[in-house]
Amino acid sequence: MKIYNTLTRQKEEFIPIEEGKLRMYVCGPTVYNLIHIGNARPMIVFDTFRRYMEYQGYQVNYVSNFTDVDDKIIKKAQEEGVDAGEISSRYIKECKQDMEAMNVRPATVHPLATQEIDGMIRMISTLIEKGYAYAAEDGTVYYRTGKFADYGKLSHKNLEDLQAGHREIQVTGDLKEDPFDFVLWKPKKEGEPAWESPWGEGRPGWHIECSVMSKKYLGETIDIHAGGEDLIFPHHENEIAQSEAASGKEFARYWMHNGFLNIDNQKMSKSRGNFFTVRDIAQKYELQVLRFFMLSAHYRSPLNFSADLMEAARNGLERIRTAAETLTRLMQAAKDAAMSAQEEALYQKAEEFRVKFENAMEDDCNTADAVSAVFELVKFINTNSSAEHTSAYLQKLYELLQTLCDVLGITIGQEEEILDAEIEKLIQERQDARKQKDFARADQIRDELAQKGILLKDTREGVTWKRA
Ligand code: AMP
Ligand code: ZN
Repeated sequence: MKIYNTLTRQKEEFIPIEEGKLRMYVCGPTVYNLIHIGNARPMIVFDTFRRYMEYQGYQVNYVSNFTDVDDKIIKKAQEEGVDAGEISSRYIKECKQDMEAMNVRPATVHPLATQEIDGMIRMISTLIEKGYAYAAEDGTVYYRTGKFADYGKLSHKNLEDLQAGHREIQVTGDLKEDPFDFVLWKPKKEGEPAWESPWGEGRPGWHIECSVMSKKYLGETIDIHAGGEDLIFPHHENEIAQSEAASGKEFARYWMHNGFLNIDNQKMSKSRGNFFTVRDIAQKYELQVLRFFMLSAHYRSPLNFSADLMEAARNGLERIRTAAETLTRLMQAAKDAAMSAQEEALYQKAEEFRVKFENAMEDDCNTADAVSAVFELVKFINTNSSAEHTSAYLQKLYELLQTLCDVLGITIGQEEEILDAEIEKLIQERQDARKQKDFARADQIRDELAQKGILLKDTREGVTWKRA
């Protein structure tokens, strides 16, 4: 497996610390809102990477945090007049629901920053003892960037150049020794969540969270650390500075960063009005389409989101599923016999698409080429399966298609999801039918939904539904 390592700016052969094992940390979202489709990109691409490594036999320990203490969460809590914890637990729940709908598997562990404060206090204390951090008189603890000789090694920035550019913007009232020193611990402000610490009540800075959670769940040196490219500087640079200064060891051997998702070639932003949550997209599309769309590009390339490209993704996905359905239909009617010699030979040809698929994935997780290999397999299936074939042969083709789609996290079986919006529409139609005393139609809708695993319940307040 070759991985483009941001640290060395080249593709490198992946060599795990321990044979057959992969220790990977992916920076997760700050939970103050529903996740947007940009946040979905690292979730989908690194989940696919993980699935591929597992397919190759790796035992993967995959850790991804939720940042559940942060200015934005506190602000939202104040606006709503509720506890910060209520906001974060609400949006963690929502995020997990979106992840499931995108077929992003839960991490081995999803640590929460607020549950790891002791570890953070310990690491900050170590950094102070070693001279890499200092407490200012207002209770803020800063990291002493100038003391860490390797500062800038990930983002390929030179601290002296950075400092020269920033000499003018030394903020008044700031208690930092240097403008590039960053916060490890912030003193409490009125109405904010806070924890006891040797520097007074306060809360941790953002960067220290990931250093501590990565160390706790994966060890001092891990194989891969990943996230969106906006995190390279300062977040990941600061994580390296903290972790390596504290442990004296290399923090992560490979750094993977996904490119950004734009909308109609523009940066996504609320003020531009081109901001979409994953939930917005779910109103219109099955989220498998969003996943398939994301995988049709290389994870490091910028990716443009548009209605046309989503339609193309929907059609592509449909093509794959149609081939799977054809195989299922043929299998049901096929003769129950072992593969003929001719079929064996044909199947060997199909296996070439697996090789293509693997070669693409081995080349820095090139899902765009891997998807092309799946399309080639689909084309092969369409031209090389008919009622003449044995069920053994058809079954093998189906298994091959399914295996490759599983690695991509794409479902091809019957369990196509019915969208919430479609369910609501059918329920409304059923209510209308009942009003018009068309009970046959009403019952038909109820049965249709039941077949799709949607159970209705008539209550005094109206109709409620749940997925079986
Ligand atoms: P945040 O909650 O802002 O820390 O973001 C969570 C993850 O989503 C990080 O890995 C970000 O780099 C990533 N991310 C945020 N916006 C985008 C975007 N537009 N495209 C791709 N990744 C993004
Ligand atoms: Zn992080």
